Amino acid sequence: QPTDRAYRVVLAGDAAVGKSSFLLRLCKNEFIDNTKATLGVDFQMKTLVVDGEPTVLQLWDTAGQERFRSIAKSYFRRADGVLLLYDVTCERSFLNVREWVDMIEDVSQDDIPIMLVGNKCDLRPEAIQDGITCIPTSYGEKLAMTYSALFCETSAKDGSNIIEAVLHLAREVTKHTHQEKKN
Ligand code: GDP
Repeated sequence: QPTDRAYRVVLAGDAAVGKSSFLLRLCKNEFIDNTKATLGVDFQMKTLVVDGEPTVLQLWDTAGQERFRSIAKSYFRRADGVLLLYDVTCERSFLNVREWVDMIEDVSQDDIPIMLVGNKCDLRPEAIQDGITCIPTSYGEKLAMTYSALFCETSAKDGSNIIEAVLHLAREVTKHTHQEKKN
């Protein structure tokens, strides 16, 4: 009887970029507008079939503790992969990606796989019309490349690309972990 593979994935990124909403969409297929308090339980489990094998992901939300760097660091230290979110309608959250990457690289043993995620892409057309500075897809792609990270754009609201983002990262994490074992 093969045991399921299990990995720890941590959600990172500024407050309000949609980390809790991302998890809620992934695990319960729900969305709540205007979440005030963080929905954050510590973690959620999600089983996916990755390359034909059932794979358990333990997904950790930094649950409103973005400001407490020491706590965030302790999450990353034991992570097998990171979903690093920004809000495509919030330039600040994009500019802060570098800080998050620095922190992750600082504490993780080896180069763990990172998926850079531009969330809230459903809001971008309207935000652009309202004159809000938004982050174009190509900027996200370029930034991801400079960190050798994966990249995608999602919407926790309409659900687009959520599963795909997680699957893609899970595949990378699986590959990465197997390589580690060989070395
Ligand atoms: P967190 O602090 O990073 O966990 O962010 P939350 O999940 O609490 O989301 C912050 C706010 O953005 C909430 O009001 C959510 O309803 C909203 N939100 C999150 N993701 C999306 C999205 O993809 N599209 C839209 N339109 N709103 C979103």
